Amino acid sequence: MATAATKSFKNFIGGEWVDAASGETFESRNPANGETIGVFPRSSAEDVDRAVEAAKQAYEEWRLVPAPRRGEILFRFGQLLAEQKDDFADLMAHEMGKVLPEAAGDVQEAIDMSFYMGGEGRRLFGQTTPSELRDKFNMSVRMPIGVVGVITPWNFPIAIPSWKIAPALVCGNTIVFKPATDTPLLGERFVELLAEAGVPAGVVNVVHGGGGEVGDRLVRHPDVPVITLTGSRETGVAVLRNAADNLKHVHLELGGKNAIIVLEDADIDLAVEGIVWSAFGTAGQRCTAASRVIVQEGAYEELQKRLVAVAEKLRLGPGWEEGVDVGPVINQGALEKIHSYTGIGKDEGAKLLTGGEIAGGDGLGDGYFYRPTIFGDVDPGMRIAQEEIFGPTTALIRVRDADEAVRVSNGIEFGLSSSIFTRDVNKAFRAMRDLEAGITYINAGTIGAEVHLPFGGVKGTGNGHREAGQAALDVFTEWKSIYVDYSGKLQKAQIDTPS
Ligand code: NAD
Repeated sequence: MATAATKSFKNFIGGEWVDAASGETFESRNPANGETIGVFPRSSAEDVDRAVEAAKQAYEEWRLVPAPRRGEILFRFGQLLAEQKDDFADLMAHEMGKVLPEAAGDVQEAIDMSFYMGGEGRRLFGQTTPSELRDKFNMSVRMPIGVVGVITPWNFPIAIPSWKIAPALVCGNTIVFKPATDTPLLGERFVELLAEAGVPAGVVNVVHGGGGEVGDRLVRHPDVPVITLTGSRETGVAVLRNAADNLKHVHLELGGKNAIIVLEDADIDLAVEGIVWSAFGTAGQRCTAASRVIVQEGAYEELQKRLVAVAEKLRLGPGWEEGVDVGPVINQGALEKIHSYTGIGKDEGAKLLTGGEIAGGDGLGDGYFYRPTIFGDVDPGMRIAQEEIFGPTTALIRVRDADEAVRVSNGIEFGLSSSIFTRDVNKAFRAMRDLEAGITYINAGTIGAEVHLPFGGVKGTGNGHREAGQAALDVFTEWKSIYVDYSGKLQKAQIDTPS
């Protein structure tokens, strides 16, 4: 419960900290013990409209700031974040539940992204090409688009905002940011630091509140031409539909049902390590989590035995405590959803090898903890092998050979991350070619993306865009082709044919 000592926070609009117009609030809670982290404005369409207006006004000046100067602000932001990395990680362990090393990794990703995109300030390359006519010069340049609506989930509360906000800013756009309601304080701190780094008033605004109110208004607002959303598939479909009337650019990063393939020739110890990290890291709440393990039959028994043994030794606890391997899941709803999939798996006839329980006792009573869960003898068509559970649950699937493994890996509606453990270079290269996913790892788990490569997925994971790397710039810019005729006469393309 909130007490008199509980700190209240505000929206950030046009450089001012302001309450929601309605005066309503909501609380952010620590998922490990239920304590209140802070009280935040429960905003509505009116607050979004004010923020969009501020961002629209700020855009007129920000788009003219030279891109290298915009990049320098990102360098300063990256530096400030590096100096405060431990504080941010500690806050993340408390507000979101990640264990400290992973929380520090989340912050590091934002530091890396800020420096990478800061460097884009001196690139943002276009092209120059010859003209088909004499005395004419052709080039293409990237143009900023305007106000970007940034809508983020809670599972990477610092990294994901940076994947969107850093490239959007360096390209010359302004921002209205709606953080997830489970991690508003991290969103608030992120924006506060951007302002400290020198982002001018109105260029980045934050409006707290729910997806159905704040998010939806951003998606429908006629003055927000770009929406970038990371979230569930269901949310992505709704957002795409709701943005259609205004023909917006909609960039979607959605769910996954990622698999690790282990062939008989693999280094099994390495595979077990990779699976444990990918399936149970962040309590399985990563879009790239390995929620399926596809094992060639000769390796199945050994892998299953070793995996269960390691999973049973994982220590659950609050993310900020030393020696804890698995933190809590985000909230009561997530806990119930994860547990319901244990029931579904059992009903479908899969064999529960370990876990499958809400964890209590040993000081875990007030938090949302779930035991690392492994199902064996899973059929690829079962719901636990098809649907995103977003918790510490993984499904072992037995296959005959590498071809069947790739078919099973591809046999889902998502296409985010994929992995294969093998020492056979031919099989590895075939998998690189044939796995239907935006990311493929060889002899590593399904997680570990680096900021300078494109990140995103195929099929139901997205709509063809990518974040990170050069690819991210395409979300936040429009191409303009420019023709400069210095011949002094009217030359007609496709009609005049100069010798
Ligand atoms: P979610 O879809 O419930 O919410 C994501 C964001 O969308 C939140 O800020 C929410 O308030 C907002 N939202 C919800 N309904 C909306 C609407 N109608 N209009 C506008 N905004 C709306 O997802 P979540 O539970 O926060 O996050 C988990 C999901 O995110 C998982 O499916 C996971 O796979 C996915 N995810 C994907 C990636 C990726 O890069 N592909 C990365 C992380 C998480």
